[in-house]
Amino acid sequence: MRFILSLIAQFSVVAQSTPGQGMKFTALHYVVAFIVIFSTVVFIVLFGRLPTFKGTIVGKAHILLWHRIPAKLAAIDKTVTGGRICNATSSWGNYLINEKHWGVAAFYVTVLTVALIFFFKDAWRYITNPIHRLLIPPLAFQPYFYLYLSAFTDPGTITPSNVSRQLEIFRYDDIIFYPDMPPCRTCRTPKPARSKHCGVCKHCIARMDHHCAWINNCVGYYNYRFFLGFIVSNLIVLSYGSYLTFTVLYMEYMRQYFPGGYDSAPKYFWADYVKWIKLIHSQNWTATVSSLFMIATLVCPLVIAFLAQHILFIHQGVTTNESEKWGEVEWAVKNGMLYIYENCGFNAENDVAETASGSGSESESGLARSRPAVLTNGTQIKLENNGRRVYIQVYGEGEMNRSVPHGMVQSEKVPDLDSICNIYDKGGFFKNWGEVFFPKYT
Ligand SMILES: [Zn+2]
Ligand SMILES: [Zn+2]
Repeated sequence: MRFILSLIAQFSVVAQSTPGQGMKFTALHYVVAFIVIFSTVVFIVLFGRLPTFKGTIVGKAHILLWHRIPAKLAAIDKTVTGGRICNATSSWGNYLINEKHWGVAAFYVTVLTVALIFFFKDAWRYITNPIHRLLIPPLAFQPYFYLYLSAFTDPGTITPSNVSRQLEIFRYDDIIFYPDMPPCRTCRTPKPARSKHCGVCKHCIARMDHHCAWINNCVGYYNYRFFLGFIVSNLIVLSYGSYLTFTVLYMEYMRQYFPGGYDSAPKYFWADYVKWIKLIHSQNWTATVSSLFMIATLVCPLVIAFLAQHILFIHQGVTTNESEKWGEVEWAVKNGMLYIYENCGFNAENDVAETASGSGSESESGLARSRPAVLTNGTQIKLENNGRRVYIQVYGEGEMNRSVPHGMVQSEKVPDLDSICNIYDKGGFFKNWGEVFFPKYT
């Protein structure tokens, strides 16, 4: 935060001193200033609500940006215009978030293309190493390729003709997905386990992760791998780009100030920011390349955070959608509202036989298939989600999140989250990755 503030301060100093000293305060500088502020705001809005940041400056800034300032602005708008601006903004925001359009993707493509044009115009000729010269063009092209694949691959639209096949892919865990979930009201199809209806795409999507405006598509079972490729290719362009632009600037710095080479430079010469700022403004191309360096370096942490989140999700065997659902389960367990319901006098073997003969369709038997499960600590082995055990949230007044399946009775309260098994976590990092990269029925 302090780093970003000092950068902004530096920018304002540069802006003030620019005309008199003949320094160049180009349009690209405004772009960089905008991106610095933009990425900080995005970071705070996206990650500020995470428990890690609770009570910290990021968490407080999140509350300020996400709740306090909008509430203040709405109150002012109400007294001044009778809420007209608020309505216009919310309908515009609604369009941006809830309608399918290419606006955000077009913004991304424009920013990337402009940055690459500037890179090839101003930095390319200083990169003489043939390995870099060979690597740069294909790596720069990759984000476009993965954007195309993510945007134009069907993420797993569930239709009446493919729903029975989709029902076979994932079993119901009887905690966050259960067979007696009502069919989707819009699509009028049964809801396979791990699927979710997307309000933007207006379809149910298999293994729905989230809807992504950058690719103007849902991230689901069949394009999750391309989406990961999109994130990784962006990370490569940003990190490699910031390395290359820094190297080019560094060479120019040495050429201008220490022509005798590294040995003639004093210790801590890199901390002499006055020299660096002079260098940046010495020529047009140094201004451009340093702007590119700053953009790449500042956006990089956001992409790393986003990728790290997805790697963690894959490791845990959850989607973004499911991580939210597990949050609700955790809340219910903490408040003593999650109960186990069991089928007394139930014959497990019969049920397995029945399910197997029903060609694996759990929806018909109404119960999940038998399967031994390892607890998260890896030591205990017990039968779970085996068809005689379902989890139901019981609120006050006897209200429940689902109806009790036929013949089942309440047995015990779930003591803690560790005693529940996530059946979609296949128990190994590589098994979970396998599911991401090799979806069934492609
Ligand atoms: Zn639907
Ligand atoms: Zn969608």
